[in-house]
Amino acid sequence: MAIRILPTEVANQIAAGEVVERPASVVKELVENALDAGARHVIVEIDGGGRRMMRVADDGSGIPADEVELAFHRYATSKLASVHDLDGIRTLGFRGEALASIASVSRVTLVTRAVGETVGTRLWLDGGELHQREPVGAPQGTVITVENLFYNVPARLKFLKKDSTERGHISALVSRYAMAYPDVRFTLSHGKQTMLRTTGSGALKDVLVEVYGLEAASQMVAVESSTAEPSRPDLPPVHVSGFVSLPSLNRSNRSHITLFVNGRWVQDSSLTYAVVQAYHTMLMVGRYPVAVLMVDVPPHDVDVNVHPTKAEVRFRHPNAVFSAIQRAVRRTLVEQAPPPAVRTEVMWGSPEWAARRERLSQVTQERMQQMGIGLEMQGTGQHPQQRPQEGEADEPRPARKRALPMLRVIGQVGATYVVAEGPAGLYLVDQHAAHERVLYEQFMAQQAEADVARQELLEAAVVELPPEQIVLVEENLETLNEVGFRVELFGRRSVQVRAVPALVAGEDPAAALMAAIGEIECGQMPTEATAEERLIARVCKRAAIKAGQVLSFSEMEALIRQLEACEQPQNCPHGRPTMLHLSAEQLAKEFGRLGAI
Ligand code: ADP
Ligand code: MG
Repeated sequence: MAIRILPTEVANQIAAGEVVERPASVVKELVENALDAGARHVIVEIDGGGRRMMRVADDGSGIPADEVELAFHRYATSKLASVHDLDGIRTLGFRGEALASIASVSRVTLVTRAVGETVGTRLWLDGGELHQREPVGAPQGTVITVENLFYNVPARLKFLKKDSTERGHISALVSRYAMAYPDVRFTLSHGKQTMLRTTGSGALKDVLVEVYGLEAASQMVAVESSTAEPSRPDLPPVHVSGFVSLPSLNRSNRSHITLFVNGRWVQDSSLTYAVVQAYHTMLMVGRYPVAVLMVDVPPHDVDVNVHPTKAEVRFRHPNAVFSAIQRAVRRTLVEQAPPPAVRTEVMWGSPEWAARRERLSQVTQERMQQMGIGLEMQGTGQHPQQRPQEGEADEPRPARKRALPMLRVIGQVGATYVVAEGPAGLYLVDQHAAHERVLYEQFMAQQAEADVARQELLEAAVVELPPEQIVLVEENLETLNEVGFRVELFGRRSVQVRAVPALVAGEDPAAALMAAIGEIECGQMPTEATAEERLIARVCKRAAIKAGQVLSFSEMEALIRQLEACEQPQNCPHGRPTMLHLSAEQLAKEFGRLGAI
């Protein structure tokens, strides 16, 4: 075949593939155009998941009568004159591709009246070809109706998902823009049903209530970076504002982290990670916050011309942006997070919990000492002072090696602690910490017996990860393998989990892997061995019975028996105490019985 230049319609259709992937992409371009035109009110109507019809109406500046046809030409734009303008772009559009692309794969009707003109224009296009044009009376602004999307591109049509799925994408998209532009009134309706309506009050919080509901919105706090001043004179000022969820409001994936850069919605895994990082230790591994953040940087510090959909941007100083986001969110959380409601399962990582744990372990250490003495006297008849000095040579610490005496289970308190009686008094056992210890020792024992027990998955699980974590997995494949995972890199953005440690066999493999990665991530350059130990500890933490879980009597007994068999029953693998002990002597003292008899 001879070389020839493709007819414009064909070229446009091909190019449309880049801009128009699905109905939501059309809505995105049309809404962006409305915002660029200075609209105060944007009305989006859709039908049949957008495939049958999408209409975006605005009260913006409108298109002058003598430019309407031009607007549908490829590379026709009023927002850019020279390549230098790219350096300081302030509009959402600038490529002049959207209308041409959309029109080439659908039937478009445009009604517009420009500011200052008395008569409007109506235009019909079919597959990108102008069919008819007529003057019409119309309010100022623009209404674009797109029907029968992809009617002439059957290949694309095939890839569209169910109407409800496409509708979901559109709704998510309009919600995002409504959040980024709280001073613009947005309405989204599907057939007769209104899916979203915002007031344009200018308050993001009002939009959050519409989008996420009152309950969720009430758990979100405002973020405002204190100053737009750069941290170093050679870095650009980065301003961060918006709302983030308190740790009590969290989701199982990152898709509720919404970021705008200079008013443009971007999908950037690194910035998303900056938000996640700010919650470090506040959220359980595998849980993610809800966030809506506006990042503002000087336009010349960001390149928006990376991709036709403009969803990716490139920063001149990505680290400055990353840390500005991370700091702003972290500070907000530390300042504003009120003590979480008593919901033990989400409190593990919270600072509040950490503080409680600290206090608890102090008290416990004293108690433990007392217990050590008590046991000592009872066991060997030795006086505590005669105990061999600890830390001498490389003797293992004798007090810790001592197995637990036989305990009699009495019951459970708060679905969290097992109460037991021993020869030396009362024991309060933290069921989660205790089970962690049990699993940990079992695991370590298995480990010692060469190959760790792993569970091959019937179907390999594909887990999508941000690039930083992919790198982590890549670097730690061996460690992951040693603890029982079998993980392979799978494409650029995901890994495939083929086997998981037998201990977490019942669990979601993705969650187990995330837990392990989280542990690797938190490690401050640990040695191979400690990294592995910590990794095992983390995995055990996930697998262990939780606080708040009601246990049957026989389950409690089994747990206590297993704990008795442990080498170090007094601490969980993270160093937290598994039990509190009140010696008979101490009980007597507390009740004023000592010496009173
Ligand atoms: P871009 O937005 O990149 O400039 P488009 O193809 O989306 O390219 O739009 C082409 C031109 O049509 C825009 O530059 C603008 O001048 C005009 N236009 C499109 N939609 C609207 C609208 N809703 N209101 C006013 N002008 C519009
Ligand atoms: Mg545009």
